Amino acid sequence: MSVAISALEAVSEAIGRNKEYLTSLDAAIGDADHGINMARGFDAVVAKARTLPPDADVGTVLKTAGMTLISTVGGAAGPLYGTAFLRAAGTAQGAAIDGAAVIRMLEAAINGIKERGKAVRGEKTMLDALEPAVEAFADRYKAGRPLVECLDAACEAADKGVAFTKTIIATKGRASYLGERSIGHQDPGATSSFIILKALADFCRQ
Ligand code: ADP
Ligand code: MG
Ligand code: MG
Repeated sequence: MSVAISALEAVSEAIGRNKEYLTSLDAAIGDADHGINMARGFDAVVAKARTLPPDADVGTVLKTAGMTLISTVGGAAGPLYGTAFLRAAGTAQGAAIDGAAVIRMLEAAINGIKERGKAVRGEKTMLDALEPAVEAFADRYKAGRPLVECLDAACEAADKGVAFTKTIIATKGRASYLGERSIGHQDPGATSSFIILKALADFCRQ
């Protein structure tokens, strides 16, 4: 079985476990469907990925995931995460994933989200978890630290980014309709980004 498919299974499992949690966060500042959207999307991703040849390369698996998310998830997050996976797929070369490849994939994913959603960091979105995460990862990687330490630093930075979303006003997506009233609430998409990164980091540790 392709390692990439197993990694997606780990992500899907983590999203499934946090479905109610993500939906409750979205109930406070959105339309109470983020967990439902994400769980539906990643269930479909895993089902589709399992139809791929067991030796499918990383690029193919990521591309399949991206297209599946775009076609099965309505709302903002599906197309944004879908674009992220498609862009990450575009950077994948062969089977080996080292630290430099992780940075390339995450940066491409983030740029895709930014272009598609016309958002930047500080607008209370998934970018507030993802950008600090890739920066922390790259810092450790450039300092020659082992991959596990880079991944832990990325997760810690993403977690801090999630906490930071509580303190800022949403200026993109549904939560922006609330204006100042969005302050005090944690962004659902930043939270799902943290959950995905954490699931991938835990998977790599195995
Ligand atoms: P919807 O808001 O359409 O119901 P979801 O609830 O699945 O979609 O996803 C909401 C999440 O999507 C938000 O918490 C936020 O993180 C993210 N989001 C919304 N709009 C944007 C955007 N323009 N750029 C980046 N992320 C966004
Ligand atoms: Mg929603
Ligand atoms: Mg919705």
